[in-house]
Amino acid sequence: MGLRACHDRSRRGTVVENRIKEVSVSKSFPAADSMAATGRASRPISFPLDTPPETGQCVEIAPGILWARLALPFRLNHVNIFLIEDGDGYAAVDTGIADEQTKAAWQTLLSGPLKGKRLTRLIVTHHHPDHIGLAGWLCSEFGIPLLTSQTGFLACNNISLSPNALGSDAYRAFYRAHGMSEATAETVSTQGNFYLRMVTPLPLTFFRLVAGEKLKIGSRVFDILSGDGHAPEQIMLYDASARLLLAADQVLARITPNVSVWAVEPDGDPLGLYTRSLASIAASLPEDTFVLPGHELPFYGLHTRIGEILAHHEERCGLILKATAEKPMTVADLVPVLFPRPLDPHQMSFAFSETHAHVNLLIHRENLVWERDAAGILRVVPAGR
Ligand SMILES: [Zn+2]
Repeated sequence: MGLRACHDRSRRGTVVENRIKEVSVSKSFPAADSMAATGRASRPISFPLDTPPETGQCVEIAPGILWARLALPFRLNHVNIFLIEDGDGYAAVDTGIADEQTKAAWQTLLSGPLKGKRLTRLIVTHHHPDHIGLAGWLCSEFGIPLLTSQTGFLACNNISLSPNALGSDAYRAFYRAHGMSEATAETVSTQGNFYLRMVTPLPLTFFRLVAGEKLKIGSRVFDILSGDGHAPEQIMLYDASARLLLAADQVLARITPNVSVWAVEPDGDPLGLYTRSLASIAASLPEDTFVLPGHELPFYGLHTRIGEILAHHEERCGLILKATAEKPMTVADLVPVLFPRPLDPHQMSFAFSETHAHVNLLIHRENLVWERDAAGILRVVPAGR
């Protein structure tokens, strides 16, 4: 689904949404790992509610905070939205994708559980289409302002306003140089076209949410946090008095957020940014934080989950180091090392981008270095060899 992706796993550990990532179930990483990652003993993951709200319904997940779900036409089939009491109405957090079904779902919520209340403002956590897709429509339909990070606002506009970058020779050449086939390079370099179909044009103005500042919504005061790696400057809101975190896609209970290198920033280290962001969250938020995530169920066990995610990525880095110790490998060569089963071109695009994120982390750590052959193909080898 375009530029966004959350690798999903069910309780059985199978892959849901972007289709490719095997992720271990929570039990796979011993508590010791999460303790090592966070430096503290960790509370196990638990779910206060094990059933999500029905379509068109809301659940009051915390005093004055309503939880609803919007459908997505993907294997990860929903996104969570939250509505925070805000005077005579509710501030909405995130939007769903831009399609008629999602617009109808909003109308159902407003004429049903929210009847008699108005939307006061829209907060968007990040620029992925299931979170920002309907922002333009919601803001104009209900006359409300958009609040988001500067990067989120600009990232959405960047893709929307420069469609000719998609499928450009430069992007194709990037994927080809990393060993990707012509067909897959074409698929990956034009993925933004899917994005464009899932997003309505943003309002021309927005209110910038800045990490370190506070945001008052009704009787609650949230610390504005931002995280990186899954999406740049992804906004999270933390109510310290209630120890409650709206985490967006940064920390999800059972699925590992997609972290990918894209052609626009070939040497980027999103996985390094992501792991540092997780470590910072673990160091600054308490063990008993109640997490309201962008997908799946609200949960306790923030530190445990962060430990699991960090261990998961370390494990994958270990697989890459082992494989590259044997022979030089392109990113495309390494995909089956992390994703050992047949992938169609679309699945390959996400597998490739996520594999690339692990490679770039190992380059940044100076464990690996690039070697370019006469044909311009890049392979990684152990540093210092
Ligand atoms: Zn996302």
